[in-house]
Amino acid sequence: MAWKVLRSFRFKLLSGTLLLLSLLLISMGLFEYTSMQRYLYHSAATHLKDQVHAIGPQVWNQVSEDSTTAQSSLAKLLDHDVTLALVSPDGTLQPINRDERHQRPVPTLTPGQYQVLFTPGSKPDWSGIALGKDGRREMVVLQRFNSPEKAVYLVQASSSLKPAADILHESLTTYGLGALATLLLGAITFRFLIHRMLSPLSKMVQSLEKMDAGTLQNRLAPQETDELNRLAHSFNALLARLETAFNREKEARETLRRFVADASHELRTPLTALHGFLEVLLLGAVENPEQRHFALQSMHLESERLIKLVNDLLFLARFDRQATLTKEKTCLADVLKEMEPELYLLAKERSVKLKIHDPGYLFCARPHLKQVVLNLFQNAVHYTDPLTGKIELSLAKSAGDLLVLEVRDNGCGISAGDLPHVFERFYRGEKSRNRKQGGTGLGLAIVKSIVEAHRGRVSVESVLEQGAVFRVELPI
Ligand code: ADP
Repeated sequence: MAWKVLRSFRFKLLSGTLLLLSLLLISMGLFEYTSMQRYLYHSAATHLKDQVHAIGPQVWNQVSEDSTTAQSSLAKLLDHDVTLALVSPDGTLQPINRDERHQRPVPTLTPGQYQVLFTPGSKPDWSGIALGKDGRREMVVLQRFNSPEKAVYLVQASSSLKPAADILHESLTTYGLGALATLLLGAITFRFLIHRMLSPLSKMVQSLEKMDAGTLQNRLAPQETDELNRLAHSFNALLARLETAFNREKEARETLRRFVADASHELRTPLTALHGFLEVLLLGAVENPEQRHFALQSMHLESERLIKLVNDLLFLARFDRQATLTKEKTCLADVLKEMEPELYLLAKERSVKLKIHDPGYLFCARPHLKQVVLNLFQNAVHYTDPLTGKIELSLAKSAGDLLVLEVRDNGCGISAGDLPHVFERFYRGEKSRNRKQGGTGLGLAIVKSIVEAHRGRVSVESVLEQGAVFRVELPI
């Protein structure tokens, strides 16, 4: 559980923010501490220098001689914690005793630091920090004096930096406490804000966790923030794609199931008929020439139907599996002309017209396109009157580089109810179902498969009892 919390996005976000805040507070504290320290040390040095300058060279000259006037001037003009010493050019340090009670030992600098000020032309004063004899930090000021009576000498004044250190310490403690309080307040505020920011995300996760195959149509609600809204949109798009794929899969399974059921049914009908006629023959009809002839003729028809059905099924099965067709540059007009004798033979007494407006070329599988023409023509023959039937085949180019093949007849037409289904496998129109010689219901399905494999489109227009027009559009 604890491990889970440590790995959570919430924890990482909170700890990262607090770490950043801590770094910010620490760097701000450091900056403030050093600036304040510099300011305090600078003030201490200036204050000490001012005191030394306020005294003047005459007094300093007298100080070394232990004059009481000088001592009283010192007492008036110097802070009581300031320690004093005179430095001669040979580096000898002579402390000046002011008040025995408060006197601290005088800090000593390195001989080099004193020598720099005795060098002619150098700066007459110096200030800096030195460690006192008691180990405490002291602010030291050196001032060079040139008196006409005496040789050059330095006055060393030093004051304790403890007050400055106390102020620094105090302000550091206050700042530290303030920073801790800010950190605590930050932790509480950030925790609240992160919780608020992430709660829509948690809700989205919960909604997604609840989803299964049955609730794929559910969608995530729109979110307030742009990023989460985009995430919800992406999830919704993914769900939509999943739903489509799932429905397609369901549809494909249903189509397959229907296809197998229809195929079995269609195969059973002629087989049952054949079986029946055989039984009739076995029961004695074989002795009766008239009955025998009728039974054999019917069996012949049924077996023809069976063969056509199996052939159509085989064609569709092979076609569904075959990914590519062997296409060649073909002139469809030539194909129609080549088929003309066969078509006239099929049409018998019906009138047949062939209208070729544009002998367009296209890349196609020639035998398959022949099959398309034949299936459509056979249907036209099938559904028109043997004597008054008129069938017209036309070929033309349409706008958008399409080759349009139309098979028009004046037959029984297709009812509005049948029209949307005629290209489905095993679908047979009302009239065809009742007919004894009805087809297999696969002819137009084969046409559709072939046309679509050529990236084309097949459609039908029909008015009942006024004929039908089948239109095949193929890209050139
Ligand atoms: P079938 O073997 O039954 O003709 P098809 O797939 O070729 O199967 O046709 C499906 C159905 O479309 C037919 O049962 C029929 O109702 C209808 N049909 C097809 N062509 C025509 C047409 N030219 N005129 C009227 N109806 C047609």
